[in-house]
Amino acid sequence: MFDVQDIRKNFPILSQKIYDKPLIYLDNAATTQKPRVVVEKIESGYYSVNANVHRGVHFLSLAATEAHEDARKTVQRFIGARSSHEIVFTRGTTESINLVASSFADEFMNPGDEVIISAMEHHSNIVPWQIQAARKGIALKVIPFRDNGELDMDAYKQLFSEKTRLVSVVHVSNVLGTVNPVRDMIAFAHLQGVPVLVDGAQAVPHIEVDMQELDADFYTFSSHKIYGPTGIGVLYGKEEWLDRLPPYQGGGEMIATVTFEKTVFNELPYKFEAGTPDYIGSAALATALDYVSALGLSRIEAYENELLAYATAKMLSIEGIRIYGRAPHKSSVISFLAGNIHHYDMGMLLDRLGIAVRTGHHCAQPLMQLLGIEGAVRASFSFYNTKEEIDAFVEGVERVRKMF
Ligand code: PLP
Repeated sequence: MFDVQDIRKNFPILSQKIYDKPLIYLDNAATTQKPRVVVEKIESGYYSVNANVHRGVHFLSLAATEAHEDARKTVQRFIGARSSHEIVFTRGTTESINLVASSFADEFMNPGDEVIISAMEHHSNIVPWQIQAARKGIALKVIPFRDNGELDMDAYKQLFSEKTRLVSVVHVSNVLGTVNPVRDMIAFAHLQGVPVLVDGAQAVPHIEVDMQELDADFYTFSSHKIYGPTGIGVLYGKEEWLDRLPPYQGGGEMIATVTFEKTVFNELPYKFEAGTPDYIGSAALATALDYVSALGLSRIEAYENELLAYATAKMLSIEGIRIYGRAPHKSSVISFLAGNIHHYDMGMLLDRLGIAVRTGHHCAQPLMQLLGIEGAVRASFSFYNTKEEIDAFVEGVERVRKMF
């Protein structure tokens, strides 16, 4: 497929030892490691083009502005947006969803109105809506899922009413790994005249997404989950929607003119980018997206699917393993429990073997409640993981199981 050993050379962090064991990093759904080019971009940004953007007439400010705006165009191309002013830089998925929840509710929602989410949402696509529910008296409707982790599409369709104002749904579940049929969900919502926000935090690193094909009204993701720096992310919004939403925060950058009596807001996307943006981060995110594009998302997806199938088969051969999320269309995470072993114990003992996995509720407590568990262990894979690492991980799980 592609040369994983060669790719790993671009990620210096992966070659270190933890407790004298080679690091096996399987917590990629929480955050990904950064290729050398991304770290170098941050370093060269601060060493050679650091100046505030959009404000200066001097050389460095113009260079920094150009890099920042070029980064916006890279994001636009990466997700197939029609225009670069449909790309708003935020702090990440969480802030992107909060922005839409707050501005959309302010402009378009009244008491009794409804938002449809799914039962497999991350807290960042639940709590912002609950805050608006308390402020505006809106209600949340929740799409259930089937035993294998697929959303119940019949139930989804039945949730619509004349009060439905928005659907806000996760593209790929960070716990179950399910790749939801968001294209069909969007098409159905649009037939009812309802716009759709898609939380793409776990999708963009693993599968190709195209805004024209999906026809999403809003789409969000975080740089740090796609090999870019932390602290920056993206809100894509169709121009017609972003134009109609009020600003989320006030300050510099988002204004055209200000008097003590009145402010005229800036044009898109700056209306939503109050304050100095993370212009070093945006350029490094663009470098990360270029890196991923050069590897090729279809090749990444094929390789990660192979890792997932390999790991799933091996895990299922261990006695007493329960895997949560067995949808036919699934991305590269395995959430599991082994017999009665507490997820923290499993995580801590794997850590001693140099294996980094996630334990706990994965910021999806309502989902855990529906699964009837307190938490789970999650192994999540990237294109830089190898079958040998999976062998070591499965052996580790087996070892821990035998200890108990
Ligand atoms: N949505 C999903 C599905 C996630 O997995 C995460 C992070 O784990 C988020 C949203 C929140 O992302 P961030 O913390 O980068 O804002």
